[in-house]
Amino acid sequence: MEADYDVIVAGGGLTGTIVAQSISYYSNQNLRIISIDRNPENLPGRKSSPGWTCGDACSKEAVDFMTERIKVPWTRPEIEHDVKGVMAFSPDKETKIPFDGDGYMLNRQKLPEIQNARTKKMGVNFDFEINLTGLIYDGQQVIGVQGIDNKTKQPYKKNCKNCCRCYRNYFYA
Ligand SMILES: Cc1cc2nc3c(=O)[nH]c(=O)nc-3n(C[C@H](O)[C@H](O)[C@H](O)COP(=O)(O)OP(=O)(O)OC[C@H]3O[C@@H](n4cnc5c(N)ncnc54)[C@H](O)[C@@H]3O)c2cc1C
Repeated sequence: MEADYDVIVAGGGLTGTIVAQSISYYSNQNLRIISIDRNPENLPGRKSSPGWTCGDACSKEAVDFMTERIKVPWTRPEIEHDVKGVMAFSPDKETKIPFDGDGYMLNRQKLPEIQNARTKKMGVNFDFEINLTGLIYDGQQVIGVQGIDNKTKQPYKKNCKNCCRCYRNYFYA
């Protein structure tokens, strides 16, 4: 059976879009890649029904590394302003952890919008409003993903040669 895609990126948050961009860049846009996410197209980066992508701050080092490796620069408006370090507080504000060094405050709504637009320009396809429930296996090998299309409430299946799962803090390739 012919695969629908060479690569499926399951979960199109920051990790997923950077993975999709990297695969596109290093394959010279010669692979059929799709990013699948449960968010609607007009609400990219939403982490859950009440919230947006966390990750307000990131290091300059990480952005520079990405720019150098895949030639995707982050500029304004997705970067709001420079910082010299950030302090992370626990929810009860009892514990704080400093992160020193040059970095950026990110615009948590603009960044995912711009990420998706850039990723599309790099030839990556998108399916939105798909709630993925699992992987499809052929023996030990992952050959696709499955879930529910929230637009139609119908089962959703796509098969692929490679699958990267980029949500719930797991990443398998
Ligand atoms: C309170 C808080 C503060 C944080 N602050 C920072 C910070 O300042 N700096 C920093 O670098 N990091 C921060 N983080 C970590 C931050 O979450 C990550 O940096 C960033 O969001 C990780 O991106 P991701 O793509 O891995 O995950 P996510 O942003 O969670 O992306 C996952 C994507 O997968 C999709 N998805 C999930 N489940 C499914 C499913 N079943 N089917 C289909 N799609 C699905 C979601 O819609 C989402 O788009 C913070 C986290 C928290 C909780």
